[in-house]
Amino acid sequence: MTIKIAVIGAGVSGLTVANLLVKRGFDVEIFESADKCGGKMFQYKNAEGICWDTGPTLISLPQELNKLFLDLNISEIELLKLHTGSHLNFSDGTNWELPIGLNNIKKYLANSNEKLSQDVFNALEISSSIYEFAEKNIFYNDPPNAISLGLKSFASGLMLKYPKLTLTPYRKVIDSLISDKNMREFFYHFASYVGMNPNEAQGGILSIAHVELVSPIVFPKGGVYQIASALERVAIENKVNLHLNSPVISAALKDEKNPSEGWKLSYKKDNSIHHANFDIVISNSDPFTASFSWLSNTDISKNYVEKINKNIYRPSESQFVILFDLYDDIELLHHVKIFPESWLESFVQVCESYQLPKDPCIYLVWPHATDKSISPRVLFISAMAPNNLSGINWSHDFCLQYAERILELCRKRLKHAFKGKIFKMISPQELEGRANSFKGGIYSACLRKFNPLAFHDSGITKYRNLYFVGAGIHPGAGVTMVIKSAKRISQHISKNFK
Ligand SMILES: Cc1cc2nc3c(=O)[nH]c(=O)nc-3n(C[C@H](O)[C@H](O)[C@H](O)COP(=O)(O)OP(=O)(O)OC[C@H]3O[C@@H](n4cnc5c(N)ncnc54)[C@H](O)[C@@H]3O)c2cc1C
Repeated sequence: MTIKIAVIGAGVSGLTVANLLVKRGFDVEIFESADKCGGKMFQYKNAEGICWDTGPTLISLPQELNKLFLDLNISEIELLKLHTGSHLNFSDGTNWELPIGLNNIKKYLANSNEKLSQDVFNALEISSSIYEFAEKNIFYNDPPNAISLGLKSFASGLMLKYPKLTLTPYRKVIDSLISDKNMREFFYHFASYVGMNPNEAQGGILSIAHVELVSPIVFPKGGVYQIASALERVAIENKVNLHLNSPVISAALKDEKNPSEGWKLSYKKDNSIHHANFDIVISNSDPFTASFSWLSNTDISKNYVEKINKNIYRPSESQFVILFDLYDDIELLHHVKIFPESWLESFVQVCESYQLPKDPCIYLVWPHATDKSISPRVLFISAMAPNNLSGINWSHDFCLQYAERILELCRKRLKHAFKGKIFKMISPQELEGRANSFKGGIYSACLRKFNPLAFHDSGITKYRNLYFVGAGIHPGAGVTMVIKSAKRISQHISKNFK
């Protein structure tokens, strides 16, 4: 008998897990509440047909995508390697155009400051060692327990080489390695990738620096949304039943006393409520969103609700995005970051006080720098914004005011006129509504306090027919990380149900 699987959500990891499982002979249906696939990876098109990607813009670890494309016979995507890294602009007038790769960065910084160059080189070497360790021992496993991980890190020599690094708060690690104020701020900001204050995040997240600065960065020719489109095409060709505009409103065990009987799903489609039975449910809907909205009252949903209600976790920060139609004849690097006077202060305002920051960190992406097939008019600008716990009503006027403030900062700091017009603004409210992101956050929910032994949950639950994939579970957020989670869960199901 063919096993029936429901995948709830057609984000990158939902599409990936569906494709991998249908290839292995399972009968898979996807339910997606939006009218388009991709989840946070999204695209808007103007009346002239020019497309703006929104959501993920910096794609790292291309080897992960290459393996997936090979597995799924996706040959239409060319991954262009970025030649330049990021332009970093600081409030004291410092500008760095950091290249990609350990030795390139070392050489670049040595031109102006030998000590800084050596500090960053040392930090990146450590970062790469942690990343390599994680690639071997963490990413593809269910979160290992702390003791086994400790033993492995001892055996690998990591513990001896960098004692206590992963047991120390991230900020202390950075302060001990780097003395330049601007470079410290730049490294602190990696903590926001796990949604945590650098004083509370654990030192091991220094591995993020490897992902962003040492490993190659790529851009899918034609735009990042090509990834979601290709995954959707493969799903349709392989006869995955894809229901768009179909939000799942509840999933309950058919028989509470006998969970192995499977799940009864209810979803809305065409203004009516439908029901369907499945042997296995895989949620690409964030575990916190699922637990607060559609997953019936199981131990699992109770656990996620409790983590929020007891203030152990909080929804991650959001971002305010401007899709800008640029008419100025300017050349930018592919990635530009404008740092506030104190990144840490702005982070606290946004993530802990849920306020609009006085001085936001701003990120600009100009894909034309790498891919000449993308119009030079396409500029993505995103700025720090609190999640929807802020209670802000992101009305059109409110959005416009914040957008003007952001554009003014770009003009002042980068000394360009940025002539053009706003094509679209995306608020935390829209993100929550369109992609069901938890409270409009961009990275699920995150721990509030330092806990060196904590990992994202596994994705495998105590019910052998309920799974999670995606940014809210191990190994975490980011396009290539959520692909890793989808692969892990598909392998687990293939092994246990065939
Ligand atoms: C502004 C922004 C910038 C980012 N920048 C980067 C970056 O530069 N690099 C990077 O790697 N990552 C970045 N990310 C993160 C990256 O986009 C995400 O980690 C990744 O796309 C998440 O994929 P996912 O599969 O976990 O799920 P999601 O994309 O969150 O998809 C979940 C899907 O489930 C659907 N769903 C939820 N509940 C239901 C329901 N009840 N019924 C039906 N469907 C449901 C949702 O509609 C959605 O389509 C960024 C994200 C944002 C928002």
